[in-house]
Amino acid sequence: MSTEDGEDPPVAAPEPSDRVSDPSDAFQALGNEVRMGILETMLEWTDGPGPEASERDGESYRSNPSFSMLFEASDVETSAGFAYHLDELVGPYLRKVNDESSADADSGADGYELTYAGEQIARAIATGTYTQRVDHPPVPLEDDCPFCEHDALTAQASDNRVTVACGHCERCLLRLDLPPAGLESHGESFPAAFDRYHRHRLSLVRDGVCPACSGEVDARLVRPSPATDDLLPAEHATHLQAEFTCSCCGTTLRSPVALSLLSHPAVVSFYYEHGQAVSERPLWNVGHEWAEMVLSEDPLAVRVVVELEDDVLALYVDERLNVVETQRASVSETTEGDESAESDGVAETTETTEAGETVGTHETDDTAETTAQ
Ligand SMILES: [Zn+2]
Ligand SMILES: [Zn+2]
Repeated sequence: MSTEDGEDPPVAAPEPSDRVSDPSDAFQALGNEVRMGILETMLEWTDGPGPEASERDGESYRSNPSFSMLFEASDVETSAGFAYHLDELVGPYLRKVNDESSADADSGADGYELTYAGEQIARAIATGTYTQRVDHPPVPLEDDCPFCEHDALTAQASDNRVTVACGHCERCLLRLDLPPAGLESHGESFPAAFDRYHRHRLSLVRDGVCPACSGEVDARLVRPSPATDDLLPAEHATHLQAEFTCSCCGTTLRSPVALSLLSHPAVVSFYYEHGQAVSERPLWNVGHEWAEMVLSEDPLAVRVVVELEDDVLALYVDERLNVVETQRASVSETTEGDESAESDGVAETTETTEAGETVGTHETDDTAETTAQ
């Protein structure tokens, strides 16, 4: 199939993205109270009639409010003045639509709806992402410190950033963001929400999708970066990390290798067979039963081993974080002098258990998650 001028259109290639406005124009359009109010009103309409529906002069509910509905909801005195502000939003944040439920449907574009960007901005503003700074005093956590085993872990928030630390050994286990709405709506139980939030983010990147922009994610095994070393306990200086980087927005997330494997079916079933739900392990205490051993430096490859009640599961992980092989064995088999590869693995596991005790807890600090500017 050819176009009129004879050029063949690309076949099966994604449509080039359509840039509807310059970033500076798009953000400038937001710099006004009236326009912010319009976005807020649009979000209320988008989300349904809501509790204020009866105040709308008995008009039947429609998801695409008309010019006059939006004008009435504003404080602007003249419709000409309001039209100017509304027009500034049309394009990046609003689009005109024909509401078929309207009596004058044939009059052309008679209603408005939020664009993708408009809804994102309106929700971010509504939940305080850009405006709220939330602090929360320390909340004691149920789990013991994985380093010193004292019952002294707390989580606290400062400026939307949560820190999990031990009051006894004074180690910082984690420091990661939680959006303002998460801190405010969950109250005292925000640590549980914080855990779920980041577990799911990790699960998303593990599946190759960026939690910030949905772009493609690159996964690899890495040595801890120098910046991370500073904040890691000395005993973790040699532990490898799983690193996930978005090729679109640059968001980078690092975690202990073991933590990145918790959703693997072999791990889930191994814990399940021992009466444990691994998904309920909090991010700051994946458990002292994990150990790891570097098998190859170039390319990097690691064997990660978990031991429960004398049973052992070993996962062989390549440089792209693929689990290339799993092995199961019981510790008792090794004591019988079995010379199989499995028993060899188990023997080494035992040797490295001490060094690996705190695997799963060293996702610390700012470098655990950074967004490139
Ligand atoms: Zn401690
Ligand atoms: Zn991204």
